[in-house]
Amino acid sequence: MTDYAIEIEGLTKTYAAQRGTGPKTALHEVDLTVPAGSIFGLLGPNGAGKSTLINILAGLVRKSAGQVKIWGFDQDVNPRQSRASIGVMPQELNMDPFFTPRASLDTQAGLYGVPKSQRRTDEILRTIGLTDKADAYARTLSGGMRRRLLLGKALVHSPQVLVLDEPTAGVDIELRQMLWQNVRKLNAQGMTIILTTHYLEEAEEMCDEIAIIHQGRKIAHDRTDRLIGQLDAKTLVIQPVDPAPEALQLPDGVELERRANGTLAFSYFRNRTSAEQVLDAVRAAGIRIHDVATAEPHLEDVFLALTKSSEDQAA
Ligand code: ADP
Repeated sequence: MTDYAIEIEGLTKTYAAQRGTGPKTALHEVDLTVPAGSIFGLLGPNGAGKSTLINILAGLVRKSAGQVKIWGFDQDVNPRQSRASIGVMPQELNMDPFFTPRASLDTQAGLYGVPKSQRRTDEILRTIGLTDKADAYARTLSGGMRRRLLLGKALVHSPQVLVLDEPTAGVDIELRQMLWQNVRKLNAQGMTIILTTHYLEEAEEMCDEIAIIHQGRKIAHDRTDRLIGQLDAKTLVIQPVDPAPEALQLPDGVELERRANGTLAFSYFRNRTSAEQVLDAVRAAGIRIHDVATAEPHLEDVFLALTKSSEDQAA
């Protein structure tokens, strides 16, 4: 057992120049550790370098510099063991239309050198809910079933680390829930899960730790709750008894959003302003308060704040 499922140091990837474009550095000296047994989220806007990182882990893209260890195995020193320790569920759905799910899983197990006696084809088919479709041609499977088959293929060699690249992009709620149930169950059995997602709410709900990548650099990495706690922003939502007056004197740094339902949402930073000061300003304006609520920031706010501040620094 290792403390870290993944240890990355100084990882850099520069794609060679192509016609019309110069070389492109997609990852700049990224350091990253993923604790064994965690569900880890890799977030970043489009083009941030997430796929590049995942493809390097999967052995599909060659790094330009740096060190990558998977389950303690250095990719350069123990390429076979490091590859055997990781399974990747890719984004793309292309698969041989004449392969049945059973044949796909068997072929994949063969590619990983899993002996016939150790194959878990039936168990995996059950896990991904495709027992009924085990012998149907892939072309007769729905989009959701194909996704589940991709997950199954990532599991044939019983990897310690499972990587899911945008697993729920464009899938319906039912399939999303089924995928997350599967992921939680695999994690409960001890598998480390790394996922990329565009759905920040989903990352907030699913992930123990999150790293944010922006323009090829890691700009944040922390436990999910701490990452959100880092952002000192707070919102106080007030429902006035009567419609609020137009003019309001507010302490510096407090922003007011008048919502359609007549409530007033005051956003402020706790290190600059207290709730008391906001309430004082509201009372001073003669507003009688019917109800009051506070809202914590979401990952989305953290994400926007961090990507924006790193752009400001780069500019
Ligand atoms: P993400 O997955 O976060 O959207 P990618 O890793 O796909 O980001 O891309 C990071 C950057 O590297 C982008 O600017 C992209 O255009 C570039 N890139 C990705 N793949 C290649 C490639 N094969 N050749 C050249 N540039 C690439």
